[in-house]
Order: sequence, then structure tokens, then C-alpha cells
Amino acid sequence: MIIIFFGPPGAGKGTQASLTAKTLKIPHLSTGDILRDKLLDQDTLSIKLKKLMDSGNLVSDDILNEIIANRLKLPDCQGGFVLDGYPRTMSQKIFLIDFLESHDLSISKIIDLVIDEKIIIHRIKSRSNIENRLDDREEIIKTRMVKYIEETKPLFKYFRSKYPNDYHIIDGDQDIEKIQDDILKIVKNEDFQP
Ligand code: AMP
Repeated sequence: MIIIFFGPPGAGKGTQASLTAKTLKIPHLSTGDILRDKLLDQDTLSIKLKKLMDSGNLVSDDILNEIIANRLKLPDCQGGFVLDGYPRTMSQKIFLIDFLESHDLSISKIIDLVIDEKIIIHRIKSRSNIENRLDDREEIIKTRMVKYIEETKPLFKYFRSKYPNDYHIIDGDQDIEKIQDDILKIVKNEDFQP
């Protein structure tokens, strides 16, 4: 099973993707987490990455596409995976679709978490106090929102028209458990009433 999660920063995408992957016993591929791991290397590349990430900007498509291609080839992804934070741009979308087609794979479900911007800012501010993520400061959140709106949202039209029955919009302003319940119903193809 291949599941893609979309959602603006602070929508709970990481939490939901992780819970879903655990239940389905498939890997949770968060490009944000993979990149944050790379920062620990403290080499020239990681210094560049840190600057981009701390400012709320996106890391280059080439780097992301290489990360994903290498990760998807590993044996643990052969039974499926959950994508969280990728694809985020048109070039990444094209790369992913090509990769999946050339490996005879298809997307099973797309979960699009939607949530009001005001709620997001409030949520991320409290998260930044707990996790101390530099990119969770208010001015940076705005940049991340702009990137989401300008770079990622334009991808939805393609996914909605290509996967009309498997593209699901979920209200992200609900309890974690309720959202996860709804996602699992979708994944298991049970009746789902939003
Ligand atoms: P996230 O944890 O998904 O919010 O990602 C944190 C940061 O990592 C983003 O603000 C970007 O700087 C970078 N990042 C994560 N995924 C991608 C991606 N698919 N393309 C470009 N940059 C990314």
C-alpha cells in the first residue's frame, strides 16, 4: 500500500502519517525527518540544508528526489510506504510519478489534511516551545505557508483528477484519534462520513 499525506505545516501530517504507518506495518518516510537527520553530519551540505530549512524555504528538488529514490529502493519499502512531506513541488511530483510507473507501482490513497491558517499558527507556536524547532517561529511559519500554497497546492489538481476515488480531504482540526480513525477507515475502504 502506498499512501501520500498532504497538509500545511502544523496540520498534524507527521503524527497521522506515523500512526498510519505503524498500524499498516510499513515505513513512514518523512522527508523533513530524513533531512533533519542529515543535519547531524555537520558537513558542507548540512550547513547549506540547515540555512534553507531554518528560513522555511524548500531544499532543492535534486536533493529530495535522490533521497526518495534511494529510500524507495530499500527492501523495507517493497510492501508499501507512507510518504509525508513529499512530493512538495511540480518537479518532485513528476519524479515520483515516473519512479512509480517505472517500478510498476501505484498510489493507493492520498490523504489531504486541511486546516485554518490561524489554528496552524497557534499550534506551531506551542510545538516550537516543546520541540524547539527553529523553523517553527511565527515569521518562518508564514514563509512555510507561502511555500505550501505556491509550490505544493498546485499539485492537488493533478492528484484529484488522476485518483478521484482515492483522494480524501480530512478536517485536520479534530482530535488526533478521530482523524486517525477516519484515515484507517479510508485505508481499509470502509464507509467514511466526514
Ligand atoms: P517538514 O518537517 O516536512 O515540515 O519539513 C521541514 C523542512 O524540510 C521544510 O520546511 C523544507 O525546508 C525541508 N523539506 C522537507 N521535505 C521537503 C521536500 N519534499 N522538498 C523540499 N524541502 C523539503
